[in-house]
Amino acid sequence: MLTTDANDCVVAATITVKAVLRIAVRYSLAMILSGFAIQLKAAVVLQYHHVSDHTPASTSTSIARFERHLQLIETQGFEVVSLPTLLENFKIAGENQKSRDQFEQKKQLAITFDDGYESVYRNAYPRLKSRNWPFTIFVNTQPLDERWAGFFRWSELREMLANGVTVGNHSSAHDHLLQRLQGENSEMWRARVAADVTLAQQRIEAETDQAQRLLAYPFGEFDRPLRELVESLGFVAFGQHSGALTDVHSWQALPRFPFGGHYGDDADFVTKLNARPLPLAQVNLYDQSGKKTDAVVSEQALPTVELILADKVAALQCFGPSEVKVTQTQDRVLVSLAAPVPEGRSRINCTARHFSGGFMWFSQPLFRLPANGRWLD
Ligand SMILES: [Zn+2]
Repeated sequence: MLTTDANDCVVAATITVKAVLRIAVRYSLAMILSGFAIQLKAAVVLQYHHVSDHTPASTSTSIARFERHLQLIETQGFEVVSLPTLLENFKIAGENQKSRDQFEQKKQLAITFDDGYESVYRNAYPRLKSRNWPFTIFVNTQPLDERWAGFFRWSELREMLANGVTVGNHSSAHDHLLQRLQGENSEMWRARVAADVTLAQQRIEAETDQAQRLLAYPFGEFDRPLRELVESLGFVAFGQHSGALTDVHSWQALPRFPFGGHYGDDADFVTKLNARPLPLAQVNLYDQSGKKTDAVVSEQALPTVELILADKVAALQCFGPSEVKVTQTQDRVLVSLAAPVPEGRSRINCTARHFSGGFMWFSQPLFRLPANGRWLD
């Protein structure tokens, strides 16, 4: 149940990156010459699961590839900071233009791992430690408490903490938090999910003396009630939809770039490191009857994403689980799908070119409850 977090995005993102790279080569020089400039804050959060040559491919980054990523972070001129530091700086950058400019020049990023796999302790940690680079691990606490095979131990986590690691909450049981049990009303659902997240937080605080309120949703799944619940518990929360940090997402729906499986060859990785947010004033999601909805869509859903641009963009392209239709009227962009959203997790990604030759990026996650009423691992 813990091995497929990244599966859903393989196809869509592979298409996106290939298309993006083609356009990058074609347009980068022209954009530099034309002096096209949009001031944006830019910071990315990287997400890994296993760093190993022997774990499930879809959620694993090989050791060689991980080492290559660390080299690229260095050669691309990025500074690796802890996730709390990055979030703090990102917040300050929103205050005025000067802070924004300073933040963009810093080129900071944060590295995160989900689940608490042994390979993070054995393979990723020594390599990050030797560079003195901080990172964050979002742990689900039940496997650590029950000493499951394939997960590190609390003592090993404490050893990593002594070397600059931040611990985040990934729930206790790694359930699908969107799942409503039979006969469960909203209030009962809230109480059950709050108890699970709170239990994980209590275990983390008891074992590590850290009390960060950072959460990564299991499977990257969330909707408005879940966002509101974790906000009421005081958490900043991350999904698994891709993109640079942006104010247009709520602080309980922040994006990360997931790596594993097909993701993360040199070109893909460098594109994502240098990604900036699409300049958006607003994002809305509507169902097929035109009613405003959120990240969860219902049966036979044909949602439309409405993007209100905050600035002009060039070469806007969108990709989804099926063919997408993009209509733009001045600053309003409507993105609709040709076929109903598939069951489980998918997303609509939109990119546009940036004057630097890089890409501006936005990702809208879509979650559709399968017909049998059970969310998919
Ligand atoms: Zn997970």
